[in-house]
Amino acid sequence: MAAMHPAPGTIYRPPSEANSLILRATIGCSYNRCTFCGMYRDRAFRVRPLAEVEREIAAAAAIDPGVRRVFLADGDALVARASFLEAVLAALRRAFQRLARVGCYASPQALAVRTVAEMARLRELGLTLYYLGVESGEDRVLAALEKGVDGAEMVRLANKATSAGVKLSTMILLGAGGEALSESHAQASAAVINRIQPRYLSTLAMMPVPGTPLFEAVEQGTYAEMAPLALARELRTFIARLELGGTIFRSNHASNYLALAGTLPKDRGRLLAELDAALADPDAAPFRAEWRRGL
Ligand code: SF4
Repeated sequence: MAAMHPAPGTIYRPPSEANSLILRATIGCSYNRCTFCGMYRDRAFRVRPLAEVEREIAAAAAIDPGVRRVFLADGDALVARASFLEAVLAALRRAFQRLARVGCYASPQALAVRTVAEMARLRELGLTLYYLGVESGEDRVLAALEKGVDGAEMVRLANKATSAGVKLSTMILLGAGGEALSESHAQASAAVINRIQPRYLSTLAMMPVPGTPLFEAVEQGTYAEMAPLALARELRTFIARLELGGTIFRSNHASNYLALAGTLPKDRGRLLAELDAALADPDAAPFRAEWRRGL
């Protein structure tokens, strides 16, 4: 279903929410400091008035009362007051009888302010899935990205959500450490993901966006984008180190050069074989052309 447009600015959502109703409970990101992220630099963070959000839900229900999935935008809806989120979720349940899932991005900062009890209550009301940009498990990489947390804190915060019964969809940013930290980034990221045991896991490839500190770093020569083959090597190291009990893995985001998909641990051998084939014969590998990449 189409996204609602109550405020200016591009609306972002994860690829898996392509068919969801996108409801902007908040505008922008309250943190807004990650060096690679240009999504919300054009807008100040604010929580939208509840009445405005409720009107929008009613308008969406008038168009399509059969909505089953909703994504709460923008970047950091979970940081809003729990009472506000409860009211939004209640309005969604009233409007959409077939509602099956509500998801949102969860910054580490939002996970830090939400209690487990609040997250469990919100889950009971339908907010069952958080998208968490872990980005890396390597503390030097996390510091360079200005995520605001180290790997241990990321695990602690992610596990708060898991203990509240919320499913996690985690993202790792390939190339985030550059060539110099590639091996360490891959290994430490796998270690952190192993401790989180997310339901979903995806990789994105670092893409410098104009207007971000990362883009400036590229211009100043302090960060260099990694080549597709080097990223494939990094991804191979990462997947080889994963020890997961049941996680759906995707590298199908448009930023990736190689699109892989499988369930871990079942498909690990196949995924590694696909990467080995690409590394052994790059000319024959289905690398996405640069012009077809995007965020
Ligand atoms: S927390 Fe997420 S939305 Fe906010 S700046 Fe970082 S990556 Fe962007």
